Amino acid sequence: MEYIPVIVLLFIGVIAAKNISDYLALQRHYNALPTLDEYREEFPDCQTPRGIRCCECNSSSIWQRKLNRAGRAIFECRHCGTDLYRR
Ligand SMILES: [Zn+2]
Repeated sequence: MEYIPVIVLLFIGVIAAKNISDYLALQRHYNALPTLDEYREEFPDCQTPRGIRCCECNSSSIWQRKLNRAGRAIFECRHCGTDLYRR
């Protein structure tokens, strides 16, 4: 019986470690993406009068995945699912 708290703590620890590693992986992914300005520079053809296009499939259907309340977001192509740039 006295081992139950240890098991519970271990369980919480494993969940916490998983969350932290997911968070760090997302941070790395986020930081590896270009900003909008860098994206425009890298893919000048994808800057159109009507907005930004996907560099992979030329779709202009792009949506943002908000990461936190500070306004950080990843912009993702709705058509092919490529993460394009960050804010
Ligand atoms: Zn695309």
